[in-house]
Amino acid sequence: MARKNIAAGNWKMNTSISEGTQLAKALSTKTVADGTEVIIAVPFTHLQSAVEATASNSKVFIAAQNCNENDKGAYTGEISVDMIDSIGATHVVLGHSERREIFNESNELLKAKVDKVLEKGLTPIFCCGENLEIRESGKHIDFVKGQLTDSLAHLSADSFSKIIVAYEPIWAIGTGKTASPEQAQEMQEALRAHLAEHFGAEAAQNCSILYGGSVKPGNAKELFSQPDVDGGLVGGASLDAEGFGQIIDSF
Ligand code: PEP
Repeated sequence: MARKNIAAGNWKMNTSISEGTQLAKALSTKTVADGTEVIIAVPFTHLQSAVEATASNSKVFIAAQNCNENDKGAYTGEISVDMIDSIGATHVVLGHSERREIFNESNELLKAKVDKVLEKGLTPIFCCGENLEIRESGKHIDFVKGQLTDSLAHLSADSFSKIIVAYEPIWAIGTGKTASPEQAQEMQEALRAHLAEHFGAEAAQNCSILYGGSVKPGNAKELFSQPDVDGGLVGGASLDAEGFGQIIDSF
């Protein structure tokens, strides 16, 4: 997959079905520049209405926020990749820091989820990022490289080429504290170089690496102008149609 500009929204556990449908409908008429894709990661209960509401806009894609790593069976309360696929969603967010921290998702579990999503032909949006303590220790780049190695290094270059990476420093998520454009660039350049070691320069160059952490209409342009920042994974600001629209226009 060639490198694209991507504005991805993560609604987390927010919106009623009518609020969500309205938000998705607002995106159906949004003009999106060539070379840019929009993805919204909605709650499982909203997948179908979001797919239907955005069907007329070929630049908008729908993602689940998580999935189970098994095909099917006795896993009460879980959602399989086949279920997500059968609704028409095309992407799955994996390893968001809230899943890692609150639900104890390990690099090993995420490796299995990445494999399952790829096996079923959907696109993983693989999240990685360090907490404040790790950043202050100065070991943040090695830590995040390790997350990529543990969950992705087993892939072939061809499989890896289907993945979107999202760097999300935990200290910047939902805190209003954004990484500076230089901090985002430093990390994402290092991650791309690390990916090149595993998968080759071409695959690494073609990989879209997003930044996430308090992206807003007011800071998106500066962040996205960095050479290794190919877009954003946007939480809070994606819940406002107008503001998210401005972020989509920030490339
Ligand atoms: C996120 O949910 O991935 C995120 C980055 O949230 P926020 O934009 O609200 O910091």
